[in-house]
Amino acid sequence: MTTTIPHWIEGRPHVSAGDRLPVVDPATGQALAAVALADEDTVKQVVASAVAAFPAWRDLPSARRAQVLYTFRDLIRRHQDELAELITAQHGKTLDDARGEVARGLDSVELACGVPGLLKGEMSEQTGRGIDTFSTLHPLGVVLGITPFNFPVMIPLMMAAVAIAAGNTFILKPSEQDPGPAIRIAELAKEAGLPDGVLSVIHGQQQVVETLIDHPDVAAVSFVGSTPIAHSIYKRAANAGKRVQAFGGAKNHLVVMPDAPIAAAADAISSAGFGAAGQRCMAISVAVAVGGVGDDLVAALSERAKAVVVGPGNDPKSEIGPVVSAAAQQRIQGIVAAATAAGATVVVDRSTEVVPGFENGFYVGPTLVDQVDPTAEIYQAEVFGPVVVVVRVDTLDEALTLIHDHEYGNGASIFTASGGAARKFQREASAGMVGVNVPIPVPVAPYSVAGWKNSVFGDTGLNNAAWRFYTQPKYVTARWDETVTGVDFGFRPN
Ligand code: NAD
Repeated sequence: MTTTIPHWIEGRPHVSAGDRLPVVDPATGQALAAVALADEDTVKQVVASAVAAFPAWRDLPSARRAQVLYTFRDLIRRHQDELAELITAQHGKTLDDARGEVARGLDSVELACGVPGLLKGEMSEQTGRGIDTFSTLHPLGVVLGITPFNFPVMIPLMMAAVAIAAGNTFILKPSEQDPGPAIRIAELAKEAGLPDGVLSVIHGQQQVVETLIDHPDVAAVSFVGSTPIAHSIYKRAANAGKRVQAFGGAKNHLVVMPDAPIAAAADAISSAGFGAAGQRCMAISVAVAVGGVGDDLVAALSERAKAVVVGPGNDPKSEIGPVVSAAAQQRIQGIVAAATAAGATVVVDRSTEVVPGFENGFYVGPTLVDQVDPTAEIYQAEVFGPVVVVVRVDTLDEALTLIHDHEYGNGASIFTASGGAARKFQREASAGMVGVNVPIPVPVAPYSVAGWKNSVFGDTGLNNAAWRFYTQPKYVTARWDETVTGVDFGFRPN
């Protein structure tokens, strides 16, 4: 009998009567379980439960909320391997990579534990005669997080930890492709002492998401996923008058300057381009070779692309696992085939490689395409697979123009020995997260993640920048001076 992955409502599993979707192990192509998709009643229940839990959670002193989060952090740490195994089973990434993902999620929870010191208003004394002005930060109520398949632990925690610490109740709608880790997170939160209804999980697709966004009791929406969906979520939530942040897709460039150590740059590009089978929003998918470095860089990348061990994520020998689904595998293979048919210089093509013993798994091996024309689909599109394209230019300015002209602006990196080139790049690259001599410039939790252009719509606060997103300020102007009396019809400085 197939196991059903339930929703998590009111602190317990909830199996709805509606449709089911299979949850598939990408390493084998075999169904592991089915996920229950919410019907209308389930959506109503989850929101009602989050609404009911809000006042008591909001009114709990922030240090008490932090105590729950500290216990939650300890439990996640204790269950790190188990969570990693769940990620690997449903997403496909290697166990080592999955452990890293959990560690990054823990960073967000640790940040949120600092709520008593981090969620503070401001105060100014004597802003007028006998007047003080101060601000306080208030949670919004019920907030909704819609998350992608590629980080089924890190991104839910990145949203939920700060949202909950700030006193909101949080409804998570994880990806239906790997929904299991979200339920385990909710179980651990309950074990940590989080009151029922503060963190709920509901499964579904477009209809469930739209019903939740439109629900009058949902105050704000955080979304991470692909750009077309991010844009539609942004428009829908804004139309409903909701606060919204919608992070989208990426095409991250890594610029290799003539003075960069080629081996280090090639290591960085292959780790960030092929790692997690290219399914990271901060994957490097474009290598920009500046000056004469193209031939040496391509030779070094080719050597590395050929050497990568592709296999099931739970095999310690595997360096990259499968991609998430048969549809993703076919889409990636199709883009590579179209580039090949259009005459691209395909240096390494392992896109259709079969892993012996795992013939039904969704594997795509590392693929390297040189001399790519920036008008080609393989350059323009977010491939979201282990495919790196190389573009050759003469100058740093040309590299910056490429980054500027691309529709996405998530991340960009430079490898160089020149402080001047690095500083110019850091100032001029039109991307929200910039790296200097690092391949994946994902900021640590005390900062935020960002994105420019079509990589984000609306607010960009996550992690430490999310305190503002998940609260509303109140400014109080108070006079305790009984000597000030008299009617004054003017509108004047205090
Ligand atoms: P996706 O857009 O297909 O799905 C994301 C979420 O939206 C899922 O929960 C899904 O169920 C839901 N969804 C799908 N279609 C919907 C619709 N029509 N209406 C409402 N909801 C819908 O993204 P994905 O394939 O799960 O994730 C990969 C994408 O996420 C990539 O584009 C990647 O770059 C992006 N991503 C971005 C960041 C970032 O920080 N910018 C981080 C991680 C992933």
